[in-house]
Amino acid sequence: MIDSNYIYTRDCVQGSNPPCTSVCPINFKTRDFLSKLQRGNFNGAYREYAKNVIFPGIVSKICNQNCHEICPEKISVLKLEAAVVRYADRKEPINYNLPGRKEKIAIIGGGLSGMACAHRLSTRRYNVTIFEREDSVGGSLKDLIDADDLNDEFELQFKYLNYTLETNQEIITLDDLDYDAVYIATGKHGNDFGLLKSWNSKSLGTSKKGVFLGGKVTGCNDMEALMDGMIAAASIEKYIKVGKMDGQADTYHDPSCKIPVEYNDNAQPIIPLNGEYYTKEEAVKEAKRCILCDCTKCKDRCDFLQHMDLLPRKVESDAQMAKSADEGLFERVGTRMIVSCSVCGLCGAVCQEDINVEDILIESKKMLYESGHFPPPFHDFYLRDMMSALSEAYAVKAAPGYETATYMFFPGCQMTASGTEHVERAYGYMLKKNPDTALMLGCCGVPALWAGNQDLMKKVLDKLKNEWENLGKPILVSACPSCLKTFSNYADELECISIYEYIADRGLPENASSINGDWAVFDPCSSRNFPKMQTSVRNLSNRLGAELVELNSSGPEARCCGMGGHIYPANPEVFHKMLNSSINESELPYITYCMNCRNLFLSADKKCNHILDGVLGVKPLEKPFHISELRKNRIRLKKHLLKEIWGEDFEIEKKKYSVKLKISEEIYDKMDMLHISEEDVYDVVEHCIQSNEEILEPKTEIYTGYKQIGIFTYWVQYKKNDDNIEVVNTYVHRIQID
Ligand code: SF4
Ligand code: SF4
Ligand code: SF4
Repeated sequence: MIDSNYIYTRDCVQGSNPPCTSVCPINFKTRDFLSKLQRGNFNGAYREYAKNVIFPGIVSKICNQNCHEICPEKISVLKLEAAVVRYADRKEPINYNLPGRKEKIAIIGGGLSGMACAHRLSTRRYNVTIFEREDSVGGSLKDLIDADDLNDEFELQFKYLNYTLETNQEIITLDDLDYDAVYIATGKHGNDFGLLKSWNSKSLGTSKKGVFLGGKVTGCNDMEALMDGMIAAASIEKYIKVGKMDGQADTYHDPSCKIPVEYNDNAQPIIPLNGEYYTKEEAVKEAKRCILCDCTKCKDRCDFLQHMDLLPRKVESDAQMAKSADEGLFERVGTRMIVSCSVCGLCGAVCQEDINVEDILIESKKMLYESGHFPPPFHDFYLRDMMSALSEAYAVKAAPGYETATYMFFPGCQMTASGTEHVERAYGYMLKKNPDTALMLGCCGVPALWAGNQDLMKKVLDKLKNEWENLGKPILVSACPSCLKTFSNYADELECISIYEYIADRGLPENASSINGDWAVFDPCSSRNFPKMQTSVRNLSNRLGAELVELNSSGPEARCCGMGGHIYPANPEVFHKMLNSSINESELPYITYCMNCRNLFLSADKKCNHILDGVLGVKPLEKPFHISELRKNRIRLKKHLLKEIWGEDFEIEKKKYSVKLKISEEIYDKMDMLHISEEDVYDVVEHCIQSNEEILEPKTEIYTGYKQIGIFTYWVQYKKNDDNIEVVNTYVHRIQID
């Protein structure tokens, strides 16, 4: 269902023909009909049926049910159509009060095709005259359906429509007809007025201007004749309006079915107990077996799309609306959606049309940021963390004794924060293999991308590229899949490989330690387009003795742990759903190769090793570092490496506080959740005590104070002990207190 209103999701097949509709001669929207019937809504289902087939009382008796064969559940659609005709009690057509039109249309033949065309055109208030050579309408239907039933159905469906019926009128020549358009539907072996040879089987137009031809005179069957009647009506209307004979393409029969279908070999159709037709209950039961075939593959795999009840088309239209809406609506409709996607790309990986919501929302984040509507609190913590990694903890060094390099190790800002030993040992290993290996401690800039600030990301990458050029354009060896993805998408001139393939190709280090037992590999979502990295991790795990089990979501279909897009502050529910889906994929412990994934899993009590634990002989972490430790770790690492490898001293001036705080593990955990650092807490308490701006609750002897830092106001509650100040609570607001 190509829709040119969409750019990214133009080719999305969601909502397009299910198999049954594709083979139905009139493209009956079976899915809509059956979904109504599933809810026991016989009148609604009847209206849907009548809208599609015009004459339910006829079609439910004559259709040869092509859909049954192709249906994966073998639904008895025709029996259900008959049940709807039998049990609906509000069949009266709607009487639309439309103004009449002056154009006159002649229909030659009152069989099913002619009557369908007459119905459609008289509904649009054209002046329709049917010329029937016999004394009543119905044509060959009269051989199939009882005459009274046939008349009753025509009477019902034409109840509010005006048309002229000329019976016993055989048209011999078209020259005598003074009409704006003519539809020839003279039936099997009927008169084609010499026009069949110039007939267009799509538009039903002929070489004679204003004359269309269709139905059984062309050799088709009853159901196709019905469809012809509807197509002819649309083509005639176009001809009347714009003078063109080429018809309305969107009314032509569409035999395509792009919906992914899974066949059920154990389908068990409901058989009517009376051997003939369904009772109401049986009909609903049978309708409920229909799986309403459609494509929702992306949504089925994505917690964000499920949580927000979205499909990609809706994502794109909401994002478009956000662009053009006024400020209030913009923020309401757009922001929550745009900032809740982890931009992991799993949707694109499972979509047969390669539609990736990530592309839509990365662009939307940029637009949101540039228009000044991106709420800063959502990304403030991560951006400050990135800037710290790019300033106080930043370093780029050629190997001792070298000015250029063949390789440059780029551990990434997360490994330098929570895998300092891994960085040190990996770099040591690389120096042994390639003594000219350079080192860069920094960040790829992806937090800026996720915050919509693409200019900032570009600046980060430009700086990196500059250093890389100065070092003779070495091959970057990254330990972080997100860095690799960022480089490959936004700086593809950098040749880049992962540390995992580097080590897999050169052999395990001497101090590698075995990781026996059963493990599942958790591929980080950012690794999905790097099969060599994924294979290398499996290869290393096997060499270390691990028995590996593959998760359902792995390789190209890797899922996000919840960290992608830094969605936590904006939508903690989606974050937790993603985290839970990830850890619940298997009860086995995980091996992963992204520090963020590992840290999140450990924080949720899921046993998880980083592959470099075993490869480099580092003791696996059991509990992740508190966020306050992360920046300190980076600085310690930089200081240590500069001293050990280059013999350089490095100091940064530490903030000095007069207060000494006692902070429990429980408070640290809460601080992690709220992204409050130890430094923030010290700043508040120091400020409150120095300025005497603290409120004492005498009963509990608890002091409360706050300080605004950046865009946030931080609150701390504390008790003053003899030798320290004990923090009992802390929280943060995005409000400024005057
Ligand atoms: S997977 Fe999603 S985006 Fe792709 S065709 Fe299906 S519904 Fe559309
Ligand atoms: S399961 Fe339902 S929607 Fe799918 S082909 Fe059968 S009748 Fe049609
Ligand atoms: S969270 Fe991932 S799978 Fe879901 S829509 Fe966003 S990019 Fe696609």
